[in-house]
Amino acid sequence: MSWNDFAKHAKDAADWGAAYHTTLRDRPVRAQTAPGDTARQLDDTPPEDGCDLGAIMADFEKVVMPGITHWQHPRFFAYFSSNAAPASVLAEFLASIIAPQCMLWQTSPAATEMETRMMEWLCHGLGLPDIYQGVIQDSASSATLAAVLTMRERALNFRGNIEGLHGAPQLRIYCSDQVHSSIDRAIWVAGIGSDNLVKIRTTGDLRSMDPLDLETAIAEDKAAGRIPAGIIAATGATGMGACDDLEAVAAIAKEHDLYTHLDAAWAGSAMICPEFRALWTGADQFDSIVFNPHKWLGAQFDCAAHFLRDPDVLRQTLAIRPEYLKTHGTEDVTDYSEWSIPLGRRFRALKLWFLMRHYGMEGLRTRIRNHVKWSQALCERLRAEADFVIVTEPILSLWTFKAAGASDDQTQALVDAINDDGRIYLTQTLVDGQKVIRFTAGQFDCEERDFNTAFDTITELARAM
Ligand SMILES: *Cc1c(COP(=O)(O)O)cnc(C)c1O
Repeated sequence: MSWNDFAKHAKDAADWGAAYHTTLRDRPVRAQTAPGDTARQLDDTPPEDGCDLGAIMADFEKVVMPGITHWQHPRFFAYFSSNAAPASVLAEFLASIIAPQCMLWQTSPAATEMETRMMEWLCHGLGLPDIYQGVIQDSASSATLAAVLTMRERALNFRGNIEGLHGAPQLRIYCSDQVHSSIDRAIWVAGIGSDNLVKIRTTGDLRSMDPLDLETAIAEDKAAGRIPAGIIAATGATGMGACDDLEAVAAIAKEHDLYTHLDAAWAGSAMICPEFRALWTGADQFDSIVFNPHKWLGAQFDCAAHFLRDPDVLRQTLAIRPEYLKTHGTEDVTDYSEWSIPLGRRFRALKLWFLMRHYGMEGLRTRIRNHVKWSQALCERLRAEADFVIVTEPILSLWTFKAAGASDDQTQALVDAINDDGRIYLTQTLVDGQKVIRFTAGQFDCEERDFNTAFDTITELARAM
């Protein structure tokens, strides 16, 4: 393909994208295909001869689109939204055309310097003190892994990378029983072992880890000769939005000299609105904080904002400088590959720049405020219906419910019926061992009418069962 042909095809793709988004409400949210339906339409072997792009585009519509679950659908209320606001999509398009590798300052100075500035913008936007420095990771999982490795190396005096963990003291890391599975995986990958991830019982409406239990667990470990290395707290955990008491956690961490990491992957975006910041009072005492602009803020996946109080401990954990990666003569620059696990890095700052400049922080706040308001109003409407119960109260736009008296099987059957219907998309979770339905809103283009459709769909289908 010549680049002149590329321009023509790119215009067609842009037209296709606009038509797709403006007619999305007409499609079922979740793919309605069966396992194997897509694979069956793909050839077993790659073609020997190339073909025209027109034919590929036609097949794209026919083969791919029926098997797509529409994450950008305004009635996507499942998992957590993974937004791709049009301004950020354009930035991603430009970034993929230039396709720079942003591992070192020298390999694209603009990308590094914009990344630094965008992390400063986000730090300011979230109301965090300007003592934090930031890096954009590919995902919250990677940021958490980087933080866990930092906890490990800091506790082992930076000997773990050199000597391995064989014969090392038994390290302990603490978190609540509500944390995301990415924390378990980080513990596995870091070689610490899931037996050494101590999950503290949660209490209260916000399901915070019990500070007394946390203190006791640390004291017991120390008495037994184990080495506490760090605490991972959550603001807005995935199941039902659990929020830890960050001030209490930070105070305990300080007392025992533990490294602290905060997983606010979803809820962090809402902290651009000052009225929600009470949920993370004390965040500014954490060593490491991650949130995903690719979830609620509107930046195209992938984009995980990782704030660090002292990047040097992270760099001491992850930096490696073979001669071929050295930049001579520019000692004061930032080489972001030293702050993250992969060497190669995409130009992710560009979409944040486009996003924040185009919508303005106030435009982004308005969206998040609407999502919270509309979601909580829907919760009240369902609460007023005698045949529904609200199981966990809204934390921002996330709450859980079930049909009154429904068994776990009946609750799952209702989730399945709703998703087969296609008007909306929801998922289930467990709360205290019982199956409930999660409702969460955060899609960039959703409107109040989409919540009315959600009410109609949920009540109609539950009553038909
Ligand atoms: C989504 C989510 C994650 C994982 O995010 P990735 O960027 O996909 O790794 C971690 N923690 C919480 C609370 C989340 O909601």
